[in-house]
Amino acid sequence: MTTLEHPPFSSLPLRAELLQALQAVNYVEMSPVQAACAPAMLEGRDLLAQAQTGSGKTATFALGILNKLDTEQFHTQALVICPTRELSEQVAVEIRRLASAIANTKVLTLCGGKPLHDQLVSLKRDPHVVVGTPGRLKKLLDMASLNIGRVDTLVLDEADRMLDMGFHDDILAILGFIDSDRQTLLFSATYPQEIVGISRAIQKNTLEVHIEKENTTDQIEQVFITATDQQKPDALLRALGKYQPDTAIIFCNRKSVCQTLYESLRQKGISARPLHGDLEQRDRDEATILFANKSLSYLIATDVAARGLDIKSLAAVINYDLSPDPATHVHRIGRTGRAGEKGIAISLVTPNETYRVEALEEYFDADMVFVELPGADKVGAQVAQPATATLQISAGKKDKIRPGDIVGALTADSGLTNDDIGKITVQAKVSFVAVDADKATRALKTLTDGRIKRQKVKARIVAS
Ligand code: AMP
Repeated sequence: MTTLEHPPFSSLPLRAELLQALQAVNYVEMSPVQAACAPAMLEGRDLLAQAQTGSGKTATFALGILNKLDTEQFHTQALVICPTRELSEQVAVEIRRLASAIANTKVLTLCGGKPLHDQLVSLKRDPHVVVGTPGRLKKLLDMASLNIGRVDTLVLDEADRMLDMGFHDDILAILGFIDSDRQTLLFSATYPQEIVGISRAIQKNTLEVHIEKENTTDQIEQVFITATDQQKPDALLRALGKYQPDTAIIFCNRKSVCQTLYESLRQKGISARPLHGDLEQRDRDEATILFANKSLSYLIATDVAARGLDIKSLAAVINYDLSPDPATHVHRIGRTGRAGEKGIAISLVTPNETYRVEALEEYFDADMVFVELPGADKVGAQVAQPATATLQISAGKKDKIRPGDIVGALTADSGLTNDDIGKITVQAKVSFVAVDADKATRALKTLTDGRIKRQKVKARIVAS
């Protein structure tokens, strides 16, 4: 028998449908955040929890919401406010997963960058749970299209980011529409004074949960490289050549730096895409899907844009710009070295930023290692190419397409097998499928020559 480090979910007073769903997704043992939050949360207390992406915070509040949801009551009972659309989508996926055994649960995402008209149509019947971003939620409330007056669970997810993004006033405005007799669950990766302030203003009898710095950095090798801003592009190429990570997020502190770096990597034929707030939603979606599909080697992102990316394992995290905040640094590098795998975090440091490295030494209570890179002549061409290509198909849920239909179409008389096919994402009007990079052209021909569910479709290989 294996002993668990934390209590199992079965020790919680959860309704049977939730225990069943937890079993189906194979969550047995609670994570530290879940073990610390769940008992008080299920008794109805407000929570202020310091929890990062990867801590299991989403499942925590999803259980809080769903345990008291009454799907026979057709009004909105829970509202989750998230900083980005990507995070909202992922939160909705997790809530739906855990609600899978509760019949007829309606979970709706309401985010900017999506057609307002479709959202107004969806709101003709009140959803049980709404997940969304502050701007769009406020707009729908101002239009009196969304009714949250009877919400009894309010969640602010990644509250620190929402404040960083300037959503403070929108959040307070949204709160004005909700009955004050509610449970408020506030999650934040960092714990600045403004968070304490907002908690005091909107919560009562609050349980504060701080999970000590996670030990996740044990599996991560950290290396630091000195480079001036002018030397950084070259230093990055040399670092990629030396460490050969097949996937990495490259963090920049500013959107403009993401964009410039992206252009310079593309010129060298390196598989990379930017992810930041100035891009069209379509480009952000594509970049996220390509990266999750392993059809893109490097994602060049700001902290805000990378929040909520649900990437299971990354070979490396690269800090093209060092973060001014040690907690953000830890959060960034925690995306590699997960689940017992080894990871590497490579940070470029300008000569006048060495004090930041000293702050990190203090934070980790360890010496940080600076490395020299090989000479310019050894740079480059050997940088990793993606293992898969992603195809976009002009049909989706609206055409009643399911992942199995795409697999069926791809493997019919084409010589492709299930092993050549990777992740499949079916959206409303389009779908994406990852296939082995060297089978991409054949897969494309199979799709465009053939049919999916007797429908002719268009398809294209998404450039990575
Ligand atoms: P989050 O911190 O919400 O981003 O969750 C991180 C990941 O851990 C997600 O992929 C969840 O599906 C997964 N997860 C959450 N709770 C558990 C659990 N108790 N056991 C196993 N996996 C979990």
